[in-house]
Amino acid sequence: MQAKLTINLDAICDNWRALDALSGANCETAAVIKADAYGLGAATVGPALAAAGVKRFFVAQAEEAVALRAALGPTPEIYNFSGLMAGDDEAVTKHGMIPVLNSAAQVTSFSKVHAGHPCGIQLDTGMNRLGMEALEVASVALDIAALKPDLIMSHLACADEPLHPMNAAQLAAFNAMSFALPASRKALSATGGILLGAPYHFNLTRPGIGLYGGMPFKNARPVVQLDLPVIQVRDVLPGEAVGYGAAWVATRPSKIATVSSGYADGVLRAANGISLYAGHTPCPVVGRISMDLITVDVTDLKDVPPSLSLLNATQTVDVLAQKAGTIGYEILTSLGSRYHRVYKGKNE
Ligand SMILES: *Cc1c(COP(=O)(O)O)cnc(C)c1O
Repeated sequence: MQAKLTINLDAICDNWRALDALSGANCETAAVIKADAYGLGAATVGPALAAAGVKRFFVAQAEEAVALRAALGPTPEIYNFSGLMAGDDEAVTKHGMIPVLNSAAQVTSFSKVHAGHPCGIQLDTGMNRLGMEALEVASVALDIAALKPDLIMSHLACADEPLHPMNAAQLAAFNAMSFALPASRKALSATGGILLGAPYHFNLTRPGIGLYGGMPFKNARPVVQLDLPVIQVRDVLPGEAVGYGAAWVATRPSKIATVSSGYADGVLRAANGISLYAGHTPCPVVGRISMDLITVDVTDLKDVPPSLSLLNATQTVDVLAQKAGTIGYEILTSLGSRYHRVYKGKNE
């Protein structure tokens, strides 16, 4: 029996509306659904968001754009952050992908093959990851002018830290670099940037993690619930060990539940001090997390339920991430393929 991952589509759409409400009426809110909608299923999340009013979607690879087109139909715009790479031409011509061009080389090859088709331009304003710097923009200024980009964008490196000086520096750089460029719309902010306020919004924002209930969007509705079925419950005597490495030893007569999930399913072995929940009651995970199994101390429960939850409104992806030394994004995108996925909300 598989563990059950419940994904609340209504919560995702509510989170999109809440983020959209943070920017002005002349600023459109898109949706980033790269990496299979942060692991939650782009083929289902995409159409739900489109029904809620999202008109522009962002992915990270041409293959994702092609798959998303099949799920969304012809109308919504689909942008690809990695631009136009070798082999991506059909994604543009057949599937209407809008590449966000990242280099002079991409601008040149797009101009040769796809002139007349919409494109975006990514500027590097200090993150040094993707996008053109000022001199590179100048080297293809005529091409860019001829392409009339649909979108000029850049990305903030430190938007989750509102007081970080990089934010204002990147904002100034974006204003300076994009000033003279023709574009239908400009975009600088992901979830963190939306929360920084109006100067960061321009005409379009690109939230990802906030849609899926993660920080830095504190007011997000939780989106995922993960319930792990109990395979067996055993009695363990004081002095007996549980799991690999005999890393946990009982100090009292204990009841240990073994549940179905493990690091192969994205439950990070490094996670420390996590609990599984019987309703609202936390039960500590004891012993090592193994590939398919997790052992839980349920001694203090009166009745052991058929399943215990790992993710819920109390133990969110961010709580779990903190205990594993990572971020909510990594918890979400690591959720494995062995879960029975159930979508809750108006689309199902
Ligand atoms: C992933 C990504 C986003 C979305 O970021 P969140 O922090 O998840 O909101 C936006 N823009 C770019 C360029 C990205 O790579």
